[in-house]
Amino acid sequence: MRPVLGFALSLTIIAVLPAQEPAAKAQREARDILSEMISINTSVVRGGTTPLAQKLAARFRTAGVPEADIQLLGADAKDQNLVVRLRGKGPAKPVLFLAHLDVVDAMRADWSMEPYEVSEKDGWLYGRGTIDDKGPAATAVAAALALIRSGVTPDRDIILALTSGEEFGDESGAAWLLRLHKELVNADYVFNFDAGGPAIDQDVLRWIKLQGAEKVYWTVTLTVKNAGGHSSLPRPDNAILRLATALKRLEAYPFPIHLTDIARAELTARVPFVETSEANAIRDVLKKPLSLAAAESFAVRTPRFNALLRTTCTPTMLIAGHAENALPALAVATVNCRLIPGEYAADILRMLKAIIADSAVTITEIHPARPSPPSPLLPERMALIKQAAIDTWGREIPLAPVQETGATDGLYFRNAGIPVYGITGIAMPVNETRAHGNDERIPIKSFEDGVTFATALMRRVAGGK
Ligand SMILES: [Zn+2]
Repeated sequence: MRPVLGFALSLTIIAVLPAQEPAAKAQREARDILSEMISINTSVVRGGTTPLAQKLAARFRTAGVPEADIQLLGADAKDQNLVVRLRGKGPAKPVLFLAHLDVVDAMRADWSMEPYEVSEKDGWLYGRGTIDDKGPAATAVAAALALIRSGVTPDRDIILALTSGEEFGDESGAAWLLRLHKELVNADYVFNFDAGGPAIDQDVLRWIKLQGAEKVYWTVTLTVKNAGGHSSLPRPDNAILRLATALKRLEAYPFPIHLTDIARAELTARVPFVETSEANAIRDVLKKPLSLAAAESFAVRTPRFNALLRTTCTPTMLIAGHAENALPALAVATVNCRLIPGEYAADILRMLKAIIADSAVTITEIHPARPSPPSPLLPERMALIKQAAIDTWGREIPLAPVQETGATDGLYFRNAGIPVYGITGIAMPVNETRAHGNDERIPIKSFEDGVTFATALMRRVAGGK
């Protein structure tokens, strides 16, 4: 049947050739969208999301999306959200693609280049938000524009929600939309482009992290108050020293090991890809019944492994004292905890009281815990991601479910009963963690692949090939 093969082959080449041009054009457009995004300061203190949301809305208007399906709205005028709906033909509930437009602020003085501008160096794209979360958001916008231009009518509605307030947790974004405009974002499930993604280890794309659960964000303050006095007459009950003692006790306390199903799945997925000693350590942890000794020695390997296996509480801010020559009358530490899913703030509060064991230290909750249930790893949804990976990288790449240590807006959707899968197509080296930090960056190739992946995933969700 060779002639058939010959014929089929030439058809394929013809099919590929025209596709090339749109792909190159789509990549240029995606870079342009990324530059536009990064150049607008969307941090809550010195900027806002509205100017960017308006620019992106204009792109969808130009692409032909009806005005009624482009919604710009928010709790306040400065930080609006953009919700775009691509109408589908079928009755199935929509699928939502979620990303946030706001960033943690960045100061020029702390960076080696201007943070609010995309700059290219040594194969990397630098800029505030390149990985958290404007890079992934730009790939989702490019994917939606490509779907519109493809002329494919999706089998179901596809919603793109680009939100504010994720970094600041002030509920002006996803939580606000769910509370006051659920009809705009209600969906069968969510692909959250703010977690997960392909991991590069020793220059090889090894696996794709899929965030199926996240630890629970909870914050308390430890407060010590006392009479204060003249600093030339120091007393043992110095408020700062008392607080320091409490923090040292907290530092010395290892919260109990708690290996969840999704953490077990994450570790299992890692074994084939890591060096022998780590693989053996993981195997020891995975043995049933769980060996606490094995888990403890694994946890000390990296902060990530420690955070995967237990609840953590760590001081993040300190305020104390009112004058250089006066004994402090007040000392306050902010302690941010990340609870393992299935653990409850009331229990951790009890533990903190026992650990600190000092009635002069008042523990006050300042950010309530919002537990969110893990998302079911349904095969048909996992297949969409796996297929999009094949479309992008030409091979099957193992999917590793992860329990994210950081919190995302996915928790609001999970709490609304809508499963969330944290995924992007932007591959990052395993030890690269510059989100919220200085000189945030992504590999140029990873951004391009991220555009291809997002386009393929959205097309697959739409029912197209
Ligand atoms: Zn983020």
